[in-house]
Amino acid sequence: MSQTYDYDLFVIGAGSGGVRAARFAGGFGAKVAIAEERYLGGTCVNVGCVPKKLFVYASEFASAFTDARGFGWNVGETSFEWKTLIENKDTEIERLNGIYGWLLDNTGVTLYQSRATLVDNHTVLVDGEQVTAETILIATGGWPRQPTVLGAEHAITSNEAFSIEALPDKVVVVGGGYISVEFAGIFNGLGVDVTLVNRGEQILRGFDGDIRNMLEGEMEKSGITLLNKTQLTEIVKEDNGRLSVSLDNGETLDVGLVMYAIGRVPNTKGLGLENTDVTLADNGSIVVDEYLKTTADNIYALGDVINRVQLTPMATAEGMMFARNLYNPDMVNYVVSYDNVPTAVFSQPTIGTVGLTEEDARQQYENVDIYRANFRPMKNTISGAESRVLMKLVVDADSDKVLGVHMAGPDAGEIVQGFAVALKAGATKAVFDSTIGIHPTAAEEFVTMRTKVED
Ligand code: FAD
Ligand code: NDP
Repeated sequence: MSQTYDYDLFVIGAGSGGVRAARFAGGFGAKVAIAEERYLGGTCVNVGCVPKKLFVYASEFASAFTDARGFGWNVGETSFEWKTLIENKDTEIERLNGIYGWLLDNTGVTLYQSRATLVDNHTVLVDGEQVTAETILIATGGWPRQPTVLGAEHAITSNEAFSIEALPDKVVVVGGGYISVEFAGIFNGLGVDVTLVNRGEQILRGFDGDIRNMLEGEMEKSGITLLNKTQLTEIVKEDNGRLSVSLDNGETLDVGLVMYAIGRVPNTKGLGLENTDVTLADNGSIVVDEYLKTTADNIYALGDVINRVQLTPMATAEGMMFARNLYNPDMVNYVVSYDNVPTAVFSQPTIGTVGLTEEDARQQYENVDIYRANFRPMKNTISGAESRVLMKLVVDADSDKVLGVHMAGPDAGEIVQGFAVALKAGATKAVFDSTIGIHPTAAEEFVTMRTKVED
């Protein structure tokens, strides 16, 4: 370890990326400290992936109770208690917070439960003291973009959505991305009347067009009102506590809650970056090279604050890469790949996707073949549910390589995770065709699609 610094490594932010980097660096023998101002585990554990997925599970029971009847079950009267869900969710998060603390402790990482700011390239102000480190890692994540419409102070973001006191009767969700689509499904499943207001032509910009069409149809079938090409113009809080929401299509809605999910901005405000050689890009993210090094020689950054791929597994992969490159002598210049990053949107139905969309493939490749299956899942044949499944393969016709795998349907995230390995390995359509299916599953459709969609 260096003689002149308090620590080999000081990590700012104990979220997905920061904790992974600190633990691995500690495990490789570095003297490491980490500062966390809010909650161990960061966004994902506290106000992101984990509570969101628990809410998604909660929201799926209503349709499960209905489906059960077709299978002979007499489901008695059901009711839902928001307070119980919140309490149980909080208990689970506390358990995870504890595990994160234990993981850091176990690898000898010193935890400062305090905000940290940068004093210079090697010095951090934390818990009232100045601490020095040979290397500093900024892993401060992102923060919800704040709305600027009139009355924005009456709206919440995902940060607050996990602890609202009571479920509203009606909600407006603003945005057409991951969070708004997921929360529209959550609220709808829990019996709330949902209107999704999206400024774009369609929800989920950047996803495959067939998948976007399919999800929009399924959301509308499930009772969600989708208003594309629409903007919210004003929120007024009435004397009775209700919110009156004006839209640019002339409509006014009376609702109990407005939730904004219009993207997340890199969290660098007040961090003291002006005291260092770190530079920011126009979108506010920290500029890093392929090894995550900032424009200051000894300062690195990763995760949402660099705004490459705002997903937990990417932040943890970057954390491991950073720690291995700097502190594992057996690893030299290892670079994490941003190709074929699989992702799921936990909407209803779930979307799972990896690789190129049809639209992107057609831009990049001369000849593209599409294979598509759209069917009623077996369970729905006797449950009576109307929802369908869409599965799609995008193939480079010249090399036969599978470029994209897309699905909207139950367990799409679980299914596409496996196919992401095949894409990483460069599988061709012939390899898919020679793979034996697992019957009866929906997933087998990906290895049995034989007929190209007509151009
Ligand atoms: P974070 O996890 O945000 O951690 C940053 C930490 O730094 C925070 O704990 C913060 O308090 C702390 N911090 C900030 N500034 C300071 C400071 N100056 N001093 C001390 N501490 C500081 N991703 C998925 O892959 N799957 C999902 O299903 C998913 N669902 C999501 C749902 C929602 C509602 C949201 C908001 C996000 C979701 N994400 C999901 C994205 C995922 O949460 C992020 O990509 C991930 O958390 C990024 O990790 P990070 O380490 O970069 O930052
Ligand atoms: P997204 O980037 O996914 O979507 C933002 C949406 O807000 C887009 O529809 C965008 O429209 C719209 N928008 C942006 N600015 C405005 C504005 N000023 N007024 C109205 N609409 C606006 O962001 P989210 O907040 O939904 O989520 C943030 C990130 O968190 C995601 O990108 C994802 O990386 C991560 N996440 C991952 C999840 C998962 O893995 N399942 C779940 C939740 C979050 P336009 O398309 O026109 O720009």
